[in-house]
Amino acid sequence: MQTYHIITFGCQMNRSDSERAAAVFERLGYRLADSAERADIVAVNACSVRQTAINRIWGFLKKFENERNEKKMTTILTGCVLPEDRKRLSKNFDFVFNIKNLNELEMFLSGRNLYISKNYFDILPKYDNYFQSNVPIMSGCDNYCSYCAVPYVRGGESSRKIKEILAEINESAKNGCKEITLLGQNVNSFSPEDAESFSEQNPFNHAFAKLLWEVNQTVGIERILFVAAHPKDMNDEVIAAMALPKMANYLHLALQSGDNEILNAMNRKYTVEDYENIILKLGKIKPNIAIGTDIIVGFPGETREQFENTLKFYEKIKFDIAFLAMYSPRRGTVAAKLKDDVSRDEKKRRWHELQDLMEKITLKKNQKYLGTEVSVLIDKAEKDFAEGNSREMKRVRIYNSNCKKGDIVNVKIKEALTWILIV
Ligand code: SF4
Repeated sequence: MQTYHIITFGCQMNRSDSERAAAVFERLGYRLADSAERADIVAVNACSVRQTAINRIWGFLKKFENERNEKKMTTILTGCVLPEDRKRLSKNFDFVFNIKNLNELEMFLSGRNLYISKNYFDILPKYDNYFQSNVPIMSGCDNYCSYCAVPYVRGGESSRKIKEILAEINESAKNGCKEITLLGQNVNSFSPEDAESFSEQNPFNHAFAKLLWEVNQTVGIERILFVAAHPKDMNDEVIAAMALPKMANYLHLALQSGDNEILNAMNRKYTVEDYENIILKLGKIKPNIAIGTDIIVGFPGETREQFENTLKFYEKIKFDIAFLAMYSPRRGTVAAKLKDDVSRDEKKRRWHELQDLMEKITLKKNQKYLGTEVSVLIDKAEKDFAEGNSREMKRVRIYNSNCKKGDIVNVKIKEALTWILIV
Protein backbone atom coordinates (compact mmCIF):
# COMPACT_ATOMS: atom_id res chain seq x y z
CA MET A 1 0.00 0.00 0.00
CA GLN A 2 1.34 3.45 -0.93
CA THR A 3 1.90 5.94 1.88
CA TYR A 4 1.46 9.71 2.07
CA HIS A 5 2.55 12.51 4.35
CA ILE A 6 1.41 16.15 4.38
CA ILE A 7 3.67 18.97 5.57
CA THR A 8 1.59 22.00 6.52
CA PHE A 9 2.88 25.55 6.90
CA GLY A 10 1.01 28.63 8.06
CA CYS A 11 -2.31 29.18 9.73
CA GLN A 12 -5.17 27.02 11.02
CA MET A 13 -6.93 27.47 7.68
CA ASN A 14 -4.05 25.64 5.99
CA ARG A 15 -4.23 22.90 8.62
CA SER A 16 -7.91 22.53 7.89
CA ASP A 17 -7.20 22.35 4.13
CA SER A 18 -4.63 19.61 4.82
CA GLU A 19 -7.33 17.61 6.63
CA ARG A 20 -9.42 17.76 3.46
CA ALA A 21 -6.43 16.75 1.30
CA ALA A 22 -5.77 13.83 3.70
CA ALA A 23 -9.36 12.67 3.15
CA VAL A 24 -8.62 12.44 -0.61
CA PHE A 25 -5.52 10.28 -0.03
CA GLU A 26 -7.44 8.01 2.34
CA ARG A 27 -10.40 7.72 -0.06
CA LEU A 28 -7.96 6.41 -2.68
CA GLY A 29 -6.46 3.84 -0.31
CA TYR A 30 -3.23 5.61 0.70
CA ARG A 31 -1.97 5.07 4.24
CA LEU A 32 -0.69 7.92 6.43
CA ALA A 33 3.08 7.86 7.09
CA ASP A 34 4.18 9.56 10.29
CA SER A 35 7.11 11.34 8.60
CA ALA A 36 8.18 12.49 5.15
CA GLU A 37 11.08 9.99 5.29
CA ARG A 38 8.63 7.08 5.37
CA ALA A 39 6.24 8.36 2.71
CA ASP A 40 5.99 7.51 -0.98
CA ILE A 41 4.19 10.79 -1.64
CA VAL A 42 4.77 14.05 0.24
CA ALA A 43 2.39 16.96 -0.19
CA VAL A 44 3.55 20.39 0.97
CA ASN A 45 0.72 22.75 1.89
CA ALA A 46 2.60 26.02 1.60
CA CYS A 47 2.29 29.51 3.02
CA SER A 48 3.81 32.57 1.33
CA VAL A 49 2.64 34.93 4.03
CA ARG A 50 6.02 34.76 5.79
CA GLN A 51 9.36 34.26 4.09
CA THR A 52 10.37 31.74 6.80
CA ALA A 53 7.77 29.24 5.54
CA ILE A 54 9.10 29.56 1.97
CA ASN A 55 12.66 29.06 3.25
CA ARG A 56 11.53 25.88 4.99
CA ILE A 57 10.07 24.54 1.73
CA TRP A 58 13.45 25.07 0.07
CA GLY A 59 14.98 23.27 3.08
CA PHE A 60 12.59 20.34 2.53
CA LEU A 61 13.52 20.14 -1.18
CA LYS A 62 17.23 20.13 -0.35
CA LYS A 63 16.85 17.48 2.36
CA PHE A 64 15.11 15.06 0.00
CA GLU A 65 17.09 15.93 -3.13
CA ASN A 66 18.39 12.36 -3.63
CA GLU A 67 14.99 10.71 -3.10
CA ARG A 68 13.43 13.15 -5.57
CA ASN A 69 16.15 12.68 -8.18
CA GLU A 70 15.97 8.90 -7.86
CA LYS A 71 12.15 9.08 -8.10
CA LYS A 72 11.78 7.35 -4.75
CA MET A 73 9.51 10.13 -3.54
CA THR A 74 6.73 11.95 -5.37
CA THR A 75 6.28 15.55 -4.28
CA ILE A 76 3.18 17.74 -4.49
CA LEU A 77 2.85 21.47 -3.87
CA THR A 78 -0.35 23.28 -2.88
CA GLY A 79 -1.54 26.03 -0.53
CA CYS A 80 -1.06 29.80 -0.38
CA VAL A 81 1.80 30.59 -2.74
CA LEU A 82 2.60 33.98 -4.24
CA PRO A 83 3.03 33.81 -8.04
CA GLU A 84 6.79 34.43 -7.95
CA ASP A 85 7.31 31.77 -5.24
CA ARG A 86 5.13 29.36 -7.23
CA LYS A 87 7.16 29.97 -10.38
CA ARG A 88 10.45 29.19 -8.64
CA LEU A 89 9.18 26.27 -6.53
CA SER A 90 7.05 24.54 -9.20
CA LYS A 91 10.02 23.20 -11.17
CA ASN A 92 11.02 21.13 -8.16
CA PHE A 93 7.66 19.41 -7.55
CA ASP A 94 6.04 16.58 -9.52
CA PHE A 95 2.58 18.14 -9.26
CA VAL A 96 1.24 21.55 -8.29
CA PHE A 97 -2.44 22.26 -7.71
CA ASN A 98 -4.75 24.84 -6.17
CA ILE A 99 -6.01 23.52 -2.81
CA LYS A 100 -9.58 24.37 -3.82
CA ASN A 101 -9.31 21.88 -6.72
CA LEU A 102 -8.93 18.68 -4.75
CA ASN A 103 -10.52 16.82 -7.67
CA GLU A 104 -7.23 17.53 -9.51
CA LEU A 105 -5.35 15.77 -6.70
CA GLU A 106 -7.59 12.73 -7.20
CA MET A 107 -6.90 12.90 -10.95
CA PHE A 108 -3.13 13.04 -10.36
CA LEU A 109 -3.16 10.17 -7.86
CA SER A 110 -5.51 7.81 -9.66
CA GLY A 111 -5.78 9.08 -13.23
CA ARG A 112 -9.55 9.44 -12.74
CA ASN A 113 -12.00 11.77 -11.03
CA LEU A 114 -14.60 9.46 -9.56
CA TYR A 115 -15.16 10.50 -5.96
CA ILE A 116 -14.03 14.03 -5.29
CA SER A 117 -16.42 16.85 -6.15
CA LYS A 118 -15.32 20.21 -7.54
CA ASN A 119 -16.52 21.94 -4.36
CA TYR A 120 -13.79 21.15 -1.88
CA PHE A 121 -16.12 21.90 1.01
CA ASP A 122 -18.11 18.79 0.02
CA ILE A 123 -15.19 16.65 1.19
CA LEU A 124 -15.52 15.64 4.80
CA PRO A 125 -12.06 16.22 6.35
CA LYS A 126 -9.97 13.54 7.98
CA TYR A 127 -9.73 15.30 11.33
CA ASP A 128 -6.61 14.92 13.47
CA ASN A 129 -8.91 13.80 16.30
CA TYR A 130 -12.65 13.20 16.65
CA PHE A 131 -13.30 15.62 19.52
CA GLN A 132 -12.01 18.86 17.93
CA SER A 133 -12.99 20.08 14.45
CA ASN A 134 -11.81 23.06 12.44
CA VAL A 135 -14.64 24.23 10.23
CA PRO A 136 -13.90 26.85 7.54
CA ILE A 137 -16.76 29.31 7.16
CA MET A 138 -15.20 31.71 4.67
CA SER A 139 -11.98 32.24 2.82
CA GLY A 140 -10.09 35.10 1.26
CA CYS A 141 -9.83 38.65 2.49
CA ASP A 142 -10.87 42.11 1.25
CA ASN A 143 -8.94 44.09 3.84
CA TYR A 144 -5.56 44.55 2.16
CA CYS A 145 -3.54 45.26 5.27
CA SER A 146 -0.47 46.84 3.74
CA TYR A 147 1.98 44.15 4.95
CA CYS A 148 -0.11 41.08 4.13
CA ALA A 149 -0.02 38.79 1.11
CA VAL A 150 -3.24 36.89 1.91
CA PRO A 151 -5.61 38.86 -0.37
CA TYR A 152 -3.19 38.21 -3.26
CA VAL A 153 -2.85 34.47 -2.64
CA ARG A 154 -6.34 33.63 -1.33
CA GLY A 155 -8.33 36.18 -3.32
CA GLY A 156 -11.38 38.14 -2.14
CA GLU A 157 -13.74 37.08 0.64
CA SER A 158 -16.21 34.35 -0.07
CA SER A 159 -18.47 32.80 2.56
CA ARG A 160 -19.65 29.24 2.72
CA LYS A 161 -23.35 28.42 2.81
CA ILE A 162 -24.86 28.20 6.29
CA LYS A 163 -26.53 24.90 5.43
CA GLU A 164 -23.19 23.39 4.44
CA ILE A 165 -21.42 24.66 7.58
CA LEU A 166 -24.12 23.42 9.95
CA ALA A 167 -24.29 20.04 8.20
CA GLU A 168 -20.53 19.61 8.71
CA ILE A 169 -20.78 20.64 12.37
CA ASN A 170 -23.74 18.29 12.99
CA GLU A 171 -21.84 15.42 11.39
CA SER A 172 -18.80 16.13 13.60
CA ALA A 173 -21.02 16.34 16.69
CA LYS A 174 -22.58 12.98 15.82
CA ASN A 175 -19.06 11.53 15.69
CA GLY A 176 -18.29 12.82 19.19
CA CYS A 177 -16.85 16.27 18.45
CA LYS A 178 -16.92 18.59 21.48
CA GLU A 179 -14.99 21.64 20.29
CA ILE A 180 -15.60 23.56 17.07
CA THR A 181 -13.22 26.21 15.76
CA LEU A 182 -14.76 28.34 13.03
CA LEU A 183 -12.09 29.38 10.56
CA GLY A 184 -11.59 32.13 8.03
CA GLN A 185 -9.23 34.99 7.23
CA ASN A 186 -11.85 37.38 8.56
CA VAL A 187 -14.58 35.29 10.23
CA ASN A 188 -16.60 38.17 11.60
CA SER A 189 -17.26 39.58 8.14
CA PHE A 190 -19.01 36.28 7.31
CA SER A 191 -21.65 37.03 4.70
CA PRO A 192 -23.40 33.90 3.38
CA GLU A 193 -25.77 33.90 0.42
CA ASP A 194 -28.37 31.63 2.10
CA ALA A 195 -29.35 33.90 5.02
CA GLU A 196 -32.81 32.23 4.94
CA SER A 197 -31.17 29.07 6.34
CA PHE A 198 -30.83 30.63 9.80
CA SER A 199 -33.49 29.50 12.30
CA GLU A 200 -36.49 31.76 12.69
CA GLN A 201 -35.96 32.09 16.43
CA ASN A 202 -32.33 33.24 15.99
CA PRO A 203 -32.24 36.51 17.98
CA PHE A 204 -29.31 38.17 16.17
CA ASN A 205 -29.15 40.25 12.99
CA HIS A 206 -25.46 40.13 12.11
CA ALA A 207 -24.59 36.99 10.11
CA PHE A 208 -21.58 35.96 12.19
CA ALA A 209 -23.40 36.49 15.50
CA LYS A 210 -26.28 34.48 14.05
CA LEU A 211 -23.93 31.66 13.09
CA LEU A 212 -22.47 31.55 16.61
CA TRP A 213 -26.01 31.23 17.97
CA GLU A 214 -26.77 28.32 15.59
CA VAL A 215 -23.57 26.47 16.53
CA ASN A 216 -24.36 27.07 20.19
CA GLN A 217 -27.63 25.14 19.66
CA THR A 218 -25.82 22.04 18.35
CA VAL A 219 -26.28 19.10 20.70
CA GLY A 220 -22.93 17.59 21.72
CA ILE A 221 -20.82 20.67 20.99
CA GLU A 222 -19.50 22.07 24.25
CA ARG A 223 -17.01 24.71 23.16
CA ILE A 224 -16.89 27.21 20.31
CA LEU A 225 -13.84 29.16 19.17
CA PHE A 226 -13.11 31.22 16.09
CA VAL A 227 -10.11 32.60 14.27
CA ALA A 228 -9.30 35.11 12.77
CA ALA A 229 -11.50 38.01 13.78
CA HIS A 230 -10.83 41.59 12.64
CA PRO A 231 -11.33 44.42 15.17
CA LYS A 232 -13.20 46.55 12.61
CA ASP A 233 -15.90 43.83 12.34
CA MET A 234 -16.14 43.19 16.07
CA ASN A 235 -19.51 44.93 16.38
CA ASP A 236 -21.89 44.93 19.37
CA GLU A 237 -23.82 41.88 18.15
CA VAL A 238 -20.68 39.75 17.83
CA ILE A 239 -19.58 40.95 21.27
CA ALA A 240 -23.01 40.03 22.69
CA ALA A 241 -22.80 36.58 21.04
CA MET A 242 -19.55 35.98 22.94
CA ALA A 243 -21.78 35.55 26.03
CA LEU A 244 -23.50 32.47 24.57
CA PRO A 245 -22.97 29.60 27.02
CA LYS A 246 -20.79 27.42 24.81
CA MET A 247 -18.44 30.17 23.67
CA ALA A 248 -14.90 29.65 24.93
CA ASN A 249 -13.75 32.18 27.51
CA TYR A 250 -11.13 33.42 25.04
CA LEU A 251 -10.92 35.89 22.18
CA HIS A 252 -8.04 36.12 19.74
CA LEU A 253 -8.06 39.59 18.24
CA ALA A 254 -5.04 40.83 16.28
CA LEU A 255 -3.83 44.26 17.39
CA GLN A 256 -0.64 44.49 15.25
CA SER A 257 0.46 47.83 16.74
CA GLY A 258 -0.40 50.04 19.70
CA ASP A 259 0.27 53.22 17.71
CA ASN A 260 -2.39 54.90 15.57
CA GLU A 261 0.01 56.18 12.90
CA ILE A 262 1.44 52.71 12.40
CA LEU A 263 -2.06 51.18 12.37
CA ASN A 264 -2.96 53.65 9.66
CA ALA A 265 0.18 52.81 7.66
CA MET A 266 -0.75 49.16 8.06
CA ASN A 267 -4.24 49.95 6.66
CA ARG A 268 -5.85 48.25 9.67
CA LYS A 269 -8.95 50.52 9.66
CA TYR A 270 -9.23 50.95 13.45
CA THR A 271 -7.50 52.93 16.17
CA VAL A 272 -6.13 51.80 19.52
CA GLU A 273 -9.14 53.55 21.07
CA ASP A 274 -11.52 51.42 18.96
CA TYR A 275 -9.64 48.31 20.01
CA GLU A 276 -9.74 49.25 23.68
CA ASN A 277 -13.45 49.91 23.42
CA ILE A 278 -14.07 46.36 22.20
CA ILE A 279 -12.11 44.93 25.13
CA LEU A 280 -13.99 47.15 27.60
CA LYS A 281 -17.38 46.09 26.21
CA LEU A 282 -16.35 42.46 26.26
CA GLY A 283 -15.10 42.77 29.84
CA LYS A 284 -18.58 43.91 30.91
CA ILE A 285 -20.25 40.73 29.66
CA LYS A 286 -17.37 38.31 30.28
CA PRO A 287 -15.20 39.77 33.05
CA ASN A 288 -12.64 36.95 33.11
CA ILE A 289 -12.21 36.49 29.39
CA ALA A 290 -8.64 35.79 28.24
CA ILE A 291 -7.41 37.85 25.30
CA GLY A 292 -4.80 36.80 22.78
CA THR A 293 -3.34 38.93 20.02
CA ASP A 294 -0.81 39.27 17.20
CA ILE A 295 1.71 42.11 17.04
CA ILE A 296 4.27 43.07 14.39
CA VAL A 297 7.36 44.98 15.50
CA GLY A 298 9.63 47.01 13.23
CA PHE A 299 7.06 47.97 10.59
CA PRO A 300 8.64 50.45 8.10
CA GLY A 301 9.06 53.83 9.76
CA GLU A 302 8.20 52.58 13.27
CA THR A 303 10.05 54.92 15.64
CA ARG A 304 11.17 54.06 19.14
CA GLU A 305 8.33 56.22 20.48
CA GLN A 306 5.75 54.42 18.36
CA PHE A 307 7.05 51.05 19.54
CA GLU A 308 6.80 52.31 23.12
CA ASN A 309 3.15 53.10 22.47
CA THR A 310 2.72 49.39 21.71
CA LEU A 311 4.42 48.50 24.99
CA LYS A 312 2.16 50.92 26.90
CA PHE A 313 -0.97 49.62 25.22
CA TYR A 314 0.08 46.05 25.92
CA GLU A 315 0.42 46.93 29.63
CA LYS A 316 -2.98 48.60 29.58
CA ILE A 317 -4.88 45.69 28.00
CA LYS A 318 -2.84 43.04 29.80
CA PHE A 319 -3.12 40.45 27.09
CA ASP A 320 -2.95 36.79 28.12
CA ILE A 321 -0.81 35.89 25.16
CA ALA A 322 0.62 37.50 22.04
CA PHE A 323 2.17 36.06 18.93
CA LEU A 324 4.94 38.44 17.99
CA ALA A 325 6.46 38.84 14.55
CA MET A 326 9.35 40.93 13.26
CA TYR A 327 8.24 42.75 10.12
CA SER A 328 9.56 41.36 6.86
CA PRO A 329 8.40 42.59 3.45
CA ARG A 330 6.29 40.35 1.22
CA ARG A 331 6.70 41.15 -2.44
CA GLY A 332 3.64 42.65 -4.12
CA THR A 333 2.23 44.23 -0.95
CA VAL A 334 1.92 47.98 -0.42
CA ALA A 335 4.32 47.95 2.55
CA ALA A 336 6.99 46.22 0.45
CA LYS A 337 7.35 49.50 -1.47
CA LEU A 338 8.24 51.31 1.77
CA LYS A 339 11.80 51.46 3.02
CA ASP A 340 12.35 48.59 5.48
CA ASP A 341 14.26 51.02 7.68
CA VAL A 342 14.18 49.40 11.11
CA SER A 343 17.38 47.37 11.29
CA ARG A 344 17.30 43.64 11.94
CA ASP A 345 19.06 44.17 15.29
CA GLU A 346 16.55 46.81 16.35
CA LYS A 347 13.63 44.56 15.34
CA LYS A 348 15.14 41.78 17.46
CA ARG A 349 15.57 44.16 20.40
CA ARG A 350 11.94 45.29 20.16
CA TRP A 351 10.74 41.72 19.79
CA HIS A 352 12.60 40.65 22.95
CA GLU A 353 11.40 43.68 24.90
CA LEU A 354 7.78 42.91 24.05
CA GLN A 355 8.28 39.18 24.59
CA ASP A 356 9.71 39.87 28.09
CA LEU A 357 6.74 42.09 28.92
CA MET A 358 4.34 39.45 27.63
CA GLU A 359 5.91 36.71 29.73
CA LYS A 360 5.74 38.87 32.87
CA ILE A 361 2.07 39.71 32.31
CA THR A 362 1.16 36.16 31.27
CA LEU A 363 2.68 34.75 34.47
CA LYS A 364 0.83 37.30 36.62
CA LYS A 365 -2.44 36.55 34.86
CA ASN A 366 -1.90 32.81 35.21
CA GLN A 367 -1.30 33.18 38.95
CA LYS A 368 -4.88 34.42 39.28
CA TYR A 369 -6.01 30.88 38.46
CA LEU A 370 -4.33 29.43 41.58
CA GLY A 371 -6.93 27.62 43.65
CA THR A 372 -9.66 28.14 41.05
CA GLU A 373 -11.41 25.48 39.03
CA VAL A 374 -11.07 25.32 35.24
CA SER A 375 -12.66 23.05 32.65
CA VAL A 376 -10.12 21.20 30.49
CA LEU A 377 -10.61 19.34 27.21
CA ILE A 378 -7.94 16.61 27.27
CA ASP A 379 -5.97 16.29 24.02
CA LYS A 380 -2.88 14.49 25.30
CA ALA A 381 -2.82 11.48 27.62
CA GLU A 382 0.58 10.12 28.69
CA LYS A 383 1.50 7.55 31.31
CA ASP A 384 2.04 10.06 34.13
CA PHE A 385 -0.02 13.04 33.07
CA ALA A 386 -2.73 14.36 30.80
CA GLU A 387 -2.92 17.78 29.13
CA GLY A 388 -5.43 19.98 27.43
CA ASN A 389 -6.68 23.53 27.08
CA SER A 390 -9.03 25.27 29.47
CA ARG A 391 -11.89 27.41 28.16
CA GLU A 392 -9.45 30.34 28.43
CA MET A 393 -7.02 28.49 26.11
CA LYS A 394 -4.57 28.05 28.98
CA ARG A 395 -2.55 24.87 28.74
CA VAL A 396 -3.23 22.69 31.78
CA ARG A 397 -1.26 19.61 32.88
CA ILE A 398 -2.92 17.13 35.22
CA TYR A 399 -0.67 14.63 37.02
CA ASN A 400 -1.87 11.24 38.25
CA SER A 401 -5.10 11.31 36.33
CA ASN A 402 -7.02 8.66 34.46
CA CYS A 403 -8.19 11.16 31.86
CA LYS A 404 -8.54 10.02 28.29
CA LYS A 405 -8.25 12.10 25.16
CA GLY A 406 -11.58 13.80 24.48
CA ASP A 407 -12.63 13.97 28.17
CA ILE A 408 -13.72 17.30 29.61
CA VAL A 409 -12.77 17.55 33.28
CA ASN A 410 -13.03 20.21 35.96
CA VAL A 411 -9.80 20.60 37.93
CA LYS A 412 -8.38 22.93 40.59
CA ILE A 413 -5.11 24.69 39.71
CA LYS A 414 -2.24 24.10 42.16
CA GLU A 415 0.66 25.74 40.37
CA ALA A 416 0.85 28.49 37.76
CA LEU A 417 3.81 28.83 35.40
CA THR A 418 4.16 31.13 32.39
CA TRP A 419 3.13 28.61 29.77
CA ILE A 420 1.26 26.03 31.77
CA LEU A 421 -1.07 25.60 34.74
CA ILE A 422 -0.47 22.51 36.86
CA VAL A 423 -2.90 20.31 38.76
S1 SF4 B 1 -7.22 41.05 7.67
FE1 SF4 B 1 -5.27 41.90 7.00
S2 SF4 B 1 -3.75 40.57 7.99
FE2 SF4 B 1 -5.70 39.45 8.01
S3 SF4 B 1 -5.71 38.23 6.16
FE3 SF4 B 1 -6.74 40.13 5.65
S4 SF4 B 1 -5.14 41.44 4.81
FE4 SF4 B 1 -4.11 39.78 5.90
